[in-house]
Amino acid sequence: MTDTKPDTAPDYAPVPESAEAVRHWLAERPSFALFIDGRWQASRDALPAIASTNPATGDLLAHIAQAGAQDVDAAVAAARRAQPAWAALSGAERARHLHRLARLVHKHARTLAVLETLDNGKPIRETRHIDIPGAVRHLTYHANQAARIDQIFPDHTPHGVAGQVIPWNFPLLMASWKIAPALACGNTVVLKPAEYTSLTALFLADLVAEAGLPAGTVNIVTGAGDTGAALVAHPGVDKVAFTGSTEVGRAIRRATAGSGKALTLELGGKSPFIVCADADLDAAVDGLMSAIWFNQGEVCCAGSRLLVEEAVAEPLVARIKARLARFRLGDPLDRTTDMGALVDRVQHERVARLVARAVAEGAAPWQPDIDCPATGCFHHPTLLTDVAPANVAAREEIFGPVLSVMTFRTDAEAAELANNTRYGLAGSVWSETGGRALALARRVKAGVVWVNCTNKLDAGVPFGGVRQSGFGREGGREGLLAYLKPRDPWHDRGDGDAAEAQGPGTETETGTAVPAGVADAAHQAVAAAAKAAPWAHSDGRTRAAALVRLAEAVDERRDALVDRLVEATGADRAAARHEVETSAARLYAYAGHAEGHEGGASLAQPGQTVLTLAEPVGVLGIVCPDAPSLVAPVSLLAPALAMGNRTVLAVSDRHAALAEDLQALLAAARLPQGVATLLTGAPGALARALAEHGEVDGVWCFASAADAAAVEAASADDLKRTWVSRGRSPDWLSPQAGDGAAFLDAATATKTLWLPHGA
Ligand code: NDP
Repeated sequence: MTDTKPDTAPDYAPVPESAEAVRHWLAERPSFALFIDGRWQASRDALPAIASTNPATGDLLAHIAQAGAQDVDAAVAAARRAQPAWAALSGAERARHLHRLARLVHKHARTLAVLETLDNGKPIRETRHIDIPGAVRHLTYHANQAARIDQIFPDHTPHGVAGQVIPWNFPLLMASWKIAPALACGNTVVLKPAEYTSLTALFLADLVAEAGLPAGTVNIVTGAGDTGAALVAHPGVDKVAFTGSTEVGRAIRRATAGSGKALTLELGGKSPFIVCADADLDAAVDGLMSAIWFNQGEVCCAGSRLLVEEAVAEPLVARIKARLARFRLGDPLDRTTDMGALVDRVQHERVARLVARAVAEGAAPWQPDIDCPATGCFHHPTLLTDVAPANVAAREEIFGPVLSVMTFRTDAEAAELANNTRYGLAGSVWSETGGRALALARRVKAGVVWVNCTNKLDAGVPFGGVRQSGFGREGGREGLLAYLKPRDPWHDRGDGDAAEAQGPGTETETGTAVPAGVADAAHQAVAAAAKAAPWAHSDGRTRAAALVRLAEAVDERRDALVDRLVEATGADRAAARHEVETSAARLYAYAGHAEGHEGGASLAQPGQTVLTLAEPVGVLGIVCPDAPSLVAPVSLLAPALAMGNRTVLAVSDRHAALAEDLQALLAAARLPQGVATLLTGAPGALARALAEHGEVDGVWCFASAADAAAVEAASADDLKRTWVSRGRSPDWLSPQAGDGAAFLDAATATKTLWLPHGA
């Protein structure tokens, strides 16, 4: 499986970073307690402590407490007590706290880098230049945002307590990435680090105390998966933010279904790295080194699938091999090391198992003949060629230093291969032809696409996925919004039962089969929507014109619609007329948004322009409130269409006459076939049929709380996006509540395109 070592391999002397200060720090803390309410507390549950080891050597570093249910309870209670006062501070005051914390992390950067390297196994070069500076950047950016949060989101308020669960691949960076936006927005936090890598989060706890953050603002509970499960299920948690595997993300979606908790999931990926024949191959190889061998490949957005145009496949692979032959694998504390150890023996075994399976399924393996320590969790950088699309190495997230190589002949084939995955986190495209690169980047279904660069991230730029890579964005405006909710609460408006939060495990209708007739009708509507894909790529002007036609259809039928509303709702004529006029006005307004809410551009870093595109979610199932209304379905349909979604609008069959009117309006607007299909039936059954459908990308459920719970639970299978009202609704007639940003945000998935152009 190996090639011979070339003569050109550089022979650097080791340049080890001293671990003296860290060993001293650890020696004083052979075992760690839990950081709750601003102080270290022994575990109430007295579960066995977890041994934290150095994966490069197997040496024991420390023991960490394993928080149980009582500990989680105490941490959430502390966060709840602290939250009102924290939220009541001025933005500037919260900014001061976060800046102090950022400065302390910066002050201890060297120690933290060494500690991270010892705990995780990644090279010191990376912890020093990426992890720790990245953590400081997140704290600083969000400190700056905290100071202006009231100006940018005047109609929003924090969720309350954020329960945050993070993985082991970027421990301190992830902790800052999660804590900073939550605090900036006025939430308090209970954070559960990964059991393999809790030490820098525990160091951070000391800094939180030193920075003078009020007790209970940040609580850190260490432990295993059960601790995370207890945290996300805790009724005192209002918002859950998770980064980790798709499997655990799915479990968390199920556990929180129907609870009313806000949820963002940043999950796995199988990101394509597309190299066209006209790419700068040397630059592409440089990029690839960072895309897949940075952090041992333990990166959610790793470019783990190389898709290379056939004409340059051979020279590109030859250059990759030449680079890998000079790779330095070994002591993570050595400043000349390129790649360190995998995080744990379990992960090493998993990677080795997946490589063996890929080879058994026909892939050809290659590894460079380079030195590899005999002990510790080291894995050779590995190249797999002859990878068929069905091979496990083309489908599964390996989360290790393993690159699968596939070839393509046309750009259409490249896009098809790139999107032939259940994931959609990131991608990168390499071509010296600007138009070609951009066109391909637009076609890759992912939350982030890098053009002629890779793994670019910034606290000010949204990051997150689509499909089974999760939902929600972290970073930038979208990342802040994920920690806020509209100030004006929605009310019970008779849209179904507005029962209080149904906790996890509550019996919902999930298990009940959807009636065959409903399932068939939903299936046909979704099939038509799937075929209407050109709508998603139509320009804003086309969509605006369609919405104007819909608005004009309402204007033309004004009197008949007023009569219908009087009959259906018992309202007086003036109220009915107001509703019809509001509906038409809303359609005209969203026609404007279709041309005005398409995204923006920023200079994220020197020489890096980032386009932030408001892309449609895809096929959206929209379950309307079970109340006789024209303005409610219009207010839901209009933003979805404006942003390029294809929609299946589910309307209660209790309001058949109004449904017929809606149907007539849609027909008059001459929307393309499949763009807006109306279904009538029982809202609950329609909601479940849509949530269970594999080709529906998102469901808005404005029906009952029970229907909301069923939709959220059913959506876990393929992790589709949901937006549920739980039996409550905005005041549809109010411009603030029924018309605006929340609807446009729900109708879009932000895609960021990074475009380097030199400083
Ligand atoms: P997990 O998804 O299991 O872990 C992520 C975090 O979730 C950890 O803090 C973990 O705790 C916690 N957790 C585990 N189970 C639950 C639960 N039921 N409820 C709440 N929290 C829970 O990832 P693993 O560490 O097990 O890694 C397995 C695979 O996942 C990797 O091989 C890789 O493929 C993928 N992965 C992807 C990541 C990404 O960013 N995309 C990050 C990490 C892993 P604990 O650490 O104690 O188990």
